[in-house]
Amino acid sequence: MVCCCCEVEGVRVVRRIISEGSVWMNNIVVTGFLLVAWMTIAVAEEPAPATIALVIDDVGYLLAPGLRAIALPGPLAYSVLPHTPYAVSLAEAAHRAGKEVMLHLPMEPREGLSLGPGGLLHTMNHLELSQTLRTDLALIPHIRGVNNHMGSLLTQQSEAMAWVMADIKSHEGLFFIDSRTTAATVALDAAQKAGLSATRRDLFLDNVSQPAAIRVQFARLVALARLQGTALGIAHPRPATLQMLEDLLPRLPALGVRLRPVSETVARRAANPTLLQRYNPYGPLPGAEGIFDTEK
Ligand SMILES: [Zn+2]
Repeated sequence: MVCCCCEVEGVRVVRRIISEGSVWMNNIVVTGFLLVAWMTIAVAEEPAPATIALVIDDVGYLLAPGLRAIALPGPLAYSVLPHTPYAVSLAEAAHRAGKEVMLHLPMEPREGLSLGPGGLLHTMNHLELSQTLRTDLALIPHIRGVNNHMGSLLTQQSEAMAWVMADIKSHEGLFFIDSRTTAATVALDAAQKAGLSATRRDLFLDNVSQPAAIRVQFARLVALARLQGTALGIAHPRPATLQMLEDLLPRLPALGVRLRPVSETVARRAANPTLLQRYNPYGPLPGAEGIFDTEK
């Protein structure tokens, strides 16, 4: 026999137990849900390995340095100047080696620099630009993409860039890399507006063609890749550059950085703008110091 108040109290106790049990169950369910959600986010946000891509520019004038560049380990791309003596043989050699070939498209620089044959000039009309581009493309076999040689004048000109990028787009499957020979370039914007798969270079490795300077630039390329996921460098087949790349490229795996094909890097950056976060490649780059400190 239970008095009504005891019964009421008993019911309250039972209800409280049920209620607390329910809260416990709810907590377990919520905690489990949060755990699964956290694990999902953790898996989704696990950063992809940092990657770099390298273009060797100005290929075609010299055979031996060109072949030495092609022998560098990994999937580099070789951007070949049209109308140069070894353009075809080096493009074929790169292709045979499983490397990517690009057209290094000459574009008019500001005064004082010699552009060489096959160049696009600001005095050309649309038809002349198209014909010159078509000839340049036809001169080099196995082309996967295009980047500009020089061009500090022409790449500032919106109309010419719009025409050129539309013409490159009309050649199926090509990508474009803005070499950024001037900060005022509109080439990448024009390429994107034309619907091209396109990106820009981050760093020149050998503007100063001395081993120590190239090593610093290479370390900055690695730091940039770690900061933004990818980094794209341009270098040239010069003795100091080749010597440094032969030394430094095999060290990338130990740094947790992978060398990937240029075409893949362009496609990734074109599809995912967060991989191109507008770090100033020539400004302060956290982590760039000391990457190769173990070396003298
Ligand atoms: Zn060049």
